[in-house]
Amino acid sequence: MTEADISEIKTLLSTPKTVVIVPHKNPDGDAMGSTLALYHYLIKKNQHPTVIAPNDYPDFLKWLPGDDTVLKFENNEEACTAKVNEADLIFTLDFNALHRAGDDYGKVLEASSATKLMIDHHQQPDDYATFVYSDVSMSSTCEMVFNFIEMLGDTDLIDAQIATCLYTGIMTDTGSFRFPSTTSRTHQVVANLIDKGADHAQIHNNIYDTNSYSRLQLLGRAMKNMKVIPELRTAYITLSQEELDTFNFKKGDTEGFVNYGLSVSGVILAGIFIENEAEEIIKISLRSKGDFSVNEFARAHFNGGGHTNAAGGRSHAGLQETIDKFISILPEYKSQLSPK
Ligand code: 5GP
Ligand code: MN
Repeated sequence: MTEADISEIKTLLSTPKTVVIVPHKNPDGDAMGSTLALYHYLIKKNQHPTVIAPNDYPDFLKWLPGDDTVLKFENNEEACTAKVNEADLIFTLDFNALHRAGDDYGKVLEASSATKLMIDHHQQPDDYATFVYSDVSMSSTCEMVFNFIEMLGDTDLIDAQIATCLYTGIMTDTGSFRFPSTTSRTHQVVANLIDKGADHAQIHNNIYDTNSYSRLQLLGRAMKNMKVIPELRTAYITLSQEELDTFNFKKGDTEGFVNYGLSVSGVILAGIFIENEAEEIIKISLRSKGDFSVNEFARAHFNGGGHTNAAGGRSHAGLQETIDKFISILPEYKSQLSPK
């Protein structure tokens, strides 16, 4: 983002505008934290913002300040489309290709003549926004929203609500400050957010320490289903729709399961394959350690993408067929995956 961009954005925000703020489909902590932080900030700037999420998100995010104002495109396409069509500005946060908002919502966003601003840390951004703040080295979109507010000279406007939203997304996207993307600057931002009123202990408790019994039982099943291929340093987990139903699956229940695969000693590539009968897909999450790029892997084989060490994708084949495909592809990466 150039000096000229910043000055143009300052001019745009100097008069009240209708603003739509968009997180990606199946929003996570960083997507909801960043969109709601921006929402609270824009209200303080005398703007008229609305967060329109593509679809619903897990209960463990529903305490975020401003959650009750969020509209969901999937629940009311007509009203949400009208809102997008009347917007002067559209912010897209934590994604960089319009289809990541869902096919229908993506088309509505694409057709809109509003000025678009992207703030995002994923690789290979599409070219749809007038203003692009894209930086793959960033820990999270929330850290970038902090920088964005700072670039506009408004850190004084950061209050406890904004700080709480930003802290949440930085915490969830960095695996509680342990992934390599966490920098000293990340810690400085987070320290600042605590000073502004983010209650870190409460936020951690809200996100991680509110398990249902059935979710823990589902975790047990996932661990039981885990397979390890030591000669390719790979671990994978499957969950069928039947298993999800047995354990009363709710959105968000499988969050973090894939990391257990990656925690197996020696493993550098982990995957979880989750059947979704309603959408007729297998949702895939991939994680890696070191140089193995799951972003490239997911792009090449599973219609997905993401970051070098965390990516996702989907398959339209059945669960077993998808696993068979996964296993059959791995030898192509033998030189990277074989134990050194
Ligand atoms: P998760 O596995 O937690 O769903 O996603 C990990 C990372 O990959 C996130 O940064 C997410 O935005 C990205 N990601 C997940 N699913 C997809 C997908 O289907 N397409 C793309 N391009 N990125 C994805
Ligand atoms: Mn993110």
